Amino acid sequence: MKQLVVASSNPGKLRELSELLAPLGIEIIAQTQLDVADAEEPHVSFVENALAKARHASRRAKLPALADDSGICVQALGGEPGVHSARFAGGPTDGGMDRREQDARNNEKLIALLKDEKNRRAHYTCVVVLVRHADDPEPLIAQGRWHGEVIGAPRGTSGFGYDPYFYLPELGKTAAELDPKHKNALSHRGKALRRLIAKLKQGE
Ligand code: IMP
Repeated sequence: MKQLVVASSNPGKLRELSELLAPLGIEIIAQTQLDVADAEEPHVSFVENALAKARHASRRAKLPALADDSGICVQALGGEPGVHSARFAGGPTDGGMDRREQDARNNEKLIALLKDEKNRRAHYTCVVVLVRHADDPEPLIAQGRWHGEVIGAPRGTSGFGYDPYFYLPELGKTAAELDPKHKNALSHRGKALRRLIAKLKQGE
């Protein structure tokens, strides 16, 4: 494999995935560079959505493709926003809203819902899927989780999405207070990608 298209237009995700994939020595191409639009994500599970995104990007780009479907699952909300994390507060599906504004609205909704809630436990989940071609019958799939708590006021400016509110009690920091390398070493995405790379290296 010489080239791999990454099925995302989220700059935060792309940054983290590119850094995690760098040791493979494969040319990483964002789907946006090839004018591939975001796929529909209609499914109820992360794995189904990741598979749909990977197949879509691979079909359009005619290259192997890697997709990440991820989100924050909040215990007191029965696991929501989960697969709905990207557009928890609504907004256009066509990328018509600035990503920072979307993140701010999502966080505002989450914090309002948890206002009087004592149980702040949550985890991030990430499922990564790699298909060698669009109809690959044996996609490589790996998952990672990162446990933490949702706090009521933002801290830190690194990362993206829910990171300023995602608190790691053992570190005394939010995900947005970690430098990118530290986040990748601990995060759901880092765990999932390292597991996927191990499978790839084992020739699975
Ligand atoms: P997806 O593009 O449908 O997989 O949506 C992922 C969404 O989950 C993002 O837009 C964020 O809102 C949230 N999310 C996933 N991973 C992270 C992370 O590492 N930090 C912060 N938010 C994340």
